[in-house]
Amino acid sequence: MKITSAEIYPLSIPLIEPIKMSRENIVDAKTVLCCITDEHGRKGWGEASVAPLMTGETLDSLVGSIEYLIQGCMELDWKEPKDFTGLFNRVLYANASAKSCLEMALLDLYTQTLSVPLWQFLRSANNATKAELPTPIPLLRMLGGSLDKELNDAKVFSELGFRHWKIKIGSLSLDEDLHRVKVLSDALAGDVISVDANCALSLVDAIRFCESEEASKLTFAEQLVSTELSVGDFALLKNKSPIPICLDESIHGISEIKRFIDADVFGGASLKLTKTGGVIQALSCANFLHAGNFKLNLACKVAETSLSAAATASLGFALGAVDWGFSMSNQYLRFDICDEPLKARHGHLDVAQLASSGVGITPNLDRVKEVIAKGYAAIQC
Ligand SMILES: [Mg+2]
Repeated sequence: MKITSAEIYPLSIPLIEPIKMSRENIVDAKTVLCCITDEHGRKGWGEASVAPLMTGETLDSLVGSIEYLIQGCMELDWKEPKDFTGLFNRVLYANASAKSCLEMALLDLYTQTLSVPLWQFLRSANNATKAELPTPIPLLRMLGGSLDKELNDAKVFSELGFRHWKIKIGSLSLDEDLHRVKVLSDALAGDVISVDANCALSLVDAIRFCESEEASKLTFAEQLVSTELSVGDFALLKNKSPIPICLDESIHGISEIKRFIDADVFGGASLKLTKTGGVIQALSCANFLHAGNFKLNLACKVAETSLSAAATASLGFALGAVDWGFSMSNQYLRFDICDEPLKARHGHLDVAQLASSGVGITPNLDRVKEVIAKGYAAIQC
């Protein structure tokens, strides 16, 4: 399998409403799609969103890295998905999101040639060749805005079947956040409720938060403190916290997972394809976590389209269990780039929404071209 041509599309898609996190206020999805063509004229699609605070990649750098990577990969023969990362690394150091974007497009092509869906290929790679279809994956819904709005959203989405929640914290005072968490935990009692501070709390505040009665009903607390803190600080937080600690920004791949397991600093991790450099590496991370009885949630960056959601969901379907939920961020987009966007059904995503071969979502090129980011253009390789 060879790449004979490719197009890169830098996109900006408005969100339904802004999403406020501790260190950024997101109003649109800055995401990059690539479409590669093989020697038989088949097309494969990949996607990665910018995540300056998670991978260091901006729209400019991501587009540049993807273009550089594709040009360096044109002459190569793509045979075994397990070898893709090694081949990328011979062309470009680091830049996990760019590699994730191209890997997704290559896997889309590869599984189309096998006439199987990506999730099934991944499940076979995991030696889990069950005949029956995977169970639907629970979707995680983010809560934000005023407390009244959060309570209203919690009610509305609870009635739609959602049972997994994420409360963003860290942009208000600790006492205000604790109050929100208590009120929402009471309203959603029995559900899987989490908070995510995106690194914003000091170690002292993080310990106080976790030890507070107001936070006692949380299922887990994600990335409360900065990645810059020492492993000893992370260990102290984990030891003091009655709530399981989840790491997101601190985890980019298997080596960090192994190091943090050895240091006993967490109870689970959030995996994103843009951090691990793609689906195959993310599967290795997930298997390693499961083998050690650690929990995980799967997440798209806020926000990615149905394409990235399908690839991330394929990982979940292959794993069979996503205890801490799947944060499918296309639900926050004002519109999507395909004719039939992935949708929550009773708070879950079911495998029947994915096509029967490839990643499972094919973008509509006209829609893609409508949302090219201002000041950018499609790039031909
Ligand atoms: Mg997070």
